[in-house]
Amino acid sequence: MTRMAGDRRAFHDFVAAHRKFLLTTHVNPDGDGLGSEVAVAMWLRSLGKSAHALNDSLVPEAYLFLTRETTLEAFEPELAERRFAECDAVIVLDTSNRQRVGRVAPLLDRLPIAVVDHHVSHAGFGQVNVIEPEASSTGEIVYDLIRESGAALTPTIAEALYVALMTDTGSFRYSNTDSHAHRMAAELLGHGLDPQRIHAQVHAHASAGRLRFFGEVLSRLELLDDGRLAVMEASPEQFQRHGLTGADTEGLVDMPRNISGVDVVALFSEVEPGKVKVSLRSTGRIAIDAVCSRLGGGGHPHAAGVLLRGTRAEARARVLPDLSLRIAAPDGTPSPAADGDARAPGPAPAAAVGGERRTPAGRSAPEVE
Ligand code: 5GP
Ligand code: MN
Repeated sequence: MTRMAGDRRAFHDFVAAHRKFLLTTHVNPDGDGLGSEVAVAMWLRSLGKSAHALNDSLVPEAYLFLTRETTLEAFEPELAERRFAECDAVIVLDTSNRQRVGRVAPLLDRLPIAVVDHHVSHAGFGQVNVIEPEASSTGEIVYDLIRESGAALTPTIAEALYVALMTDTGSFRYSNTDSHAHRMAAELLGHGLDPQRIHAQVHAHASAGRLRFFGEVLSRLELLDDGRLAVMEASPEQFQRHGLTGADTEGLVDMPRNISGVDVVALFSEVEPGKVKVSLRSTGRIAIDAVCSRLGGGGHPHAAGVLLRGTRAEARARVLPDLSLRIAAPDGTPSPAADGDARAPGPAPAAAVGGERRTPAGRSAPEVE
């Protein structure tokens, strides 16, 4: 094990002390959250324990192949009541604060909680918190935990962990891709996985409508701040006309990162009128998680987001001046005075959907959840 934190020991004790686990991950779950859930569920079952995965959201089509042996249930009030009544502990995966588990959040405190996550800004809301921001993905931490337990990796567990690692490293191209991540990939592939097939299962889902929508949004891309800030907007009308949901924007915000000279990309997606999902990406010079966490969102230094109520123009006014200040600062960090002033006019952070404390940004960290 290259990294063995004390909290891992507490996690193994937590697993030993309980028998029936409820697993959950963040709203709009991604490959890391879902892959980690499947891997943990299968591992716990191999230890003779029971595991139910219950999330706020349905499994996106791209990840349904992970659910061949493990059902990942979507929240329904009676189902959630039943699951919390029959389980004796919760494990929350890939989630930086309790609000991010959506409708599961109000039930969490009924059971002891263990958290496994790799976000830098973390509320540490479990009785046991395995928070390792240097890990590429939550799946990487889960991989270490399973190996530490002495349990065998089955092909299904290996596949789930590979999906977690592949998706959170942007297919092994983001700054969180290190030797540990590649060693892990090598061992997982040794279980007979087909990397090309897995990649296609996750990514080959683009409809023509989705690509046309990307084309429309990209064709109106704005370059501000001397070409260092790329801004895109998507309107409710565009989502509706192409028959798309918020999840369909995945990958769009990453595209302008390739424009030479761009420091930050901002995408303002108004999926429903009055609700604007802000997605930010940095190409490395500037940490942008603080911009989102001060508005009630969060993320990593190079990939962050927040959901804001109001119009797209209002969302822009709350986000762009802060980004411009950071972009103008020689080291990418505004001076303390400027930082304090950077809050753009508009509603207080309480208007954000979901809230979170913030902790300092700074280290190199994943570009995705
Ligand atoms: P994305 O832009 O892909 O939705 O999210 C990028 C990163 O920002 C992810 O790591 C995710 O954890 C974080 N993020 C996105 N939206 C929110 C939000 O509303 N609240 C918090 N705390 N984090 C978010
Ligand atoms: Mn993650």
